Amino acid sequence: TEELLRKSDKLSVAGQLAAGLAHEIRNPLTSLRGFLQLLQSDMKEKQHYFDIMLSELDRINFIVSEFLVIAKPEAIHYKRSNLKDILQTVIALLETQAVLCNTELVLEFESEIPEIVCSEMHLKQLFINLVKNAIEAIPKDGHIRISVSMQGNDHILVRTKDNGCGIPEERLKQLGEPFYTTKEKGTGLGLMMCFKIVEAHKGTMQIQSSIGEGTMIDVLLPTQHQVVTQLE
Ligand code: ADP
Ligand code: MG
Repeated sequence: TEELLRKSDKLSVAGQLAAGLAHEIRNPLTSLRGFLQLLQSDMKEKQHYFDIMLSELDRINFIVSEFLVIAKPEAIHYKRSNLKDILQTVIALLETQAVLCNTELVLEFESEIPEIVCSEMHLKQLFINLVKNAIEAIPKDGHIRISVSMQGNDHILVRTKDNGCGIPEERLKQLGEPFYTTKEKGTGLGLMMCFKIVEAHKGTMQIQSSIGEGTMIDVLLPTQHQVVTQLE
């Protein structure tokens, strides 16, 4: 156990460093972005360069934000929330993107669900990532169905099913590893963040997939859990 302890000590130091670094990187990014926008209004003929620089800055910012969640899950704050509202917000955010891919996005509730102790922001991030991946897996004309049901009286199951490209069996175990991506513009941090968020909520996430048929991801969340760590 001593060896184990030392290892987890090291991990948390590394996590804290990473989280600190991520914070420090975001401040200069914000100021860079501001000055770029100022310059942009003076140099209309170089518009294209500015667009590239701004989108690259946004990409760094996005990667750093995803990283922050991974590095410091203990900074999550929990409160009693309505999962239906959370999922409806996620659908509203991604509806346009789905329409552009001719993809139908359906949210259905198999029963009434009770309130859940969670971090709304992080559950939004979790489901945005899952639905985004589903949309990105669909070349065109797809269906994504999110169905919510109760498991017993204290767990909620959120099942996301798509009919996208699927994932080869030998790749399944790599999901959630940092930087594993098959996309040209992917970060390979999304699923890792999803696993971290689910874990922090004392839930589980299971992925089933078959090539050419699609992918099904089950997120099982307890409606209530004892929050032990609340640092910060
Ligand atoms: P990213 O989306 O940046 O590539 P993720 O961690 O979100 O990173 O996903 C990692 C990889 O897992 C993706 O590149 C893709 O190959 C695979 N994947 C995730 N979700 C799905 C899905 N619903 N259908 C098919 N492949 C998926
Ligand atoms: Mg992703």
